[in-house]
Amino acid sequence: MSVSYPYEAPVSQELFDRAAAVTPGGVNSPVRAFRAVGGTPRFMVSGTGPYLTDADGREYVDLVCSWGPMILGHAHPEVIAAVQAAVTRGTSFGTPSEGEVALAEEMVARVEPLDQVRLVSSGTEATMSAIRLARGFTGRAKVVKFAGCYHGHVDALLAAAGSGVATFGLPDTPGVTGAQTGETIVLPYNDLDAVRAAFAANPGQIACVITEASPGNMGVVPPRDGFNAGLKELCAADGALYVSDEVMTGFRVSRAGWYGLDGVRPDLMTFGKVMGGGFPAAAFGGRADVMAQLAPVGPVYQAGTLSGNPVATAAGLAQLRLLDDAAYRAVDAASAEIRGLVTAALSKEGVAHRLQTAGSMFSVFFTDEEVRDFEAAKRQEAYRFTPFFHSMLAQGVYVPPSAFESWFVSTAHDERAVERIAAALPAAARAAA
Ligand code: PLP
Repeated sequence: MSVSYPYEAPVSQELFDRAAAVTPGGVNSPVRAFRAVGGTPRFMVSGTGPYLTDADGREYVDLVCSWGPMILGHAHPEVIAAVQAAVTRGTSFGTPSEGEVALAEEMVARVEPLDQVRLVSSGTEATMSAIRLARGFTGRAKVVKFAGCYHGHVDALLAAAGSGVATFGLPDTPGVTGAQTGETIVLPYNDLDAVRAAFAANPGQIACVITEASPGNMGVVPPRDGFNAGLKELCAADGALYVSDEVMTGFRVSRAGWYGLDGVRPDLMTFGKVMGGGFPAAAFGGRADVMAQLAPVGPVYQAGTLSGNPVATAAGLAQLRLLDDAAYRAVDAASAEIRGLVTAALSKEGVAHRLQTAGSMFSVFFTDEEVRDFEAAKRQEAYRFTPFFHSMLAQGVYVPPSAFESWFVSTAHDERAVERIAAALPAAARAAA
């Protein structure tokens, strides 16, 4: 096993050097910096269907899909047309507009537990606001979260978080005070006994349990059978709210997200990624009596200058309307085919691995062990991922630059794209061996 970073992206490198002078680490979100895998982050200039083209003119099959949103592939003609039509009418009004209503109606129609939603601009805002609302509604302070679950960079939730925090091995982050995480109880994922014990030790004090509906930020680690239902039951018994974070799974793993697969009814839910069609749109929503606590109806304050932005809502609505059952069948089938190829290539080289899936989301763990929590995810032989990643990149396949992330597929991943992935895998598997 050897790792080489062929210097084959001179234009990206030049841009990265320029970026590093004016932006910390040269990026606007840490995991883009390739710190975990080394080498030159590729600066992309365009995307079409399942492909991205970088500033050096190289094309990649994209298995990141902007970390989830691009479920129809890049520059889908109907999404682009909706955006173009919206943008010519004006980019922000600071008033209500019909697109917001239509997007909210589409969400409420698809996801049965949503009586109402409030639109925001990022997943972080959605989870931050959901937690504030849960605290306001219950009059309680404590929040339960799970190690390895990432809910955006909300102060109170940056305790044992997954995603970039896991990639960089950060236990927490400076700048978040003990007071901000002092009311956060972090428990091992998939461990209902731990949740039971937390409620027993803090009766009547826990405002909510927040969980990724099916985690994708420590790699893909689905809930055990009955885990989400158990959370809901324990919350209900104590008067706490069950908050399901569907920023990643929402409208990706089914028409109604993870709820569409497990049917466990949350009190509050959070969304982002797919619902924005590649623009900054996100939301939180749920029970009418809880949502009624939000300003201007109730006393819990929450707001946003660009919330419900007309261009973002047009993109999101166009994307959601194209996501019918056939689209989910297509993305699920492409994902299954790619997973089969990955496992065949790694098995042929005798590389211990596990593919874990949640709908079309999946990740590759370099281990024999079934990964059920963050500790197990961290026990994988993550060092094998770096040569695997660079071999794929050198052969024109862009997989997430971290061993702790989900891979994402789109409806645009057709036979040609899958063939290119198939052609790259044997050498990548040899590099990982
Ligand atoms: N919640 C989950 C489950 C996520 O995966 C993410 C982002 O990856 C977030 C929240 C935060 O969303 P955003 O990056 O839009 O702030």
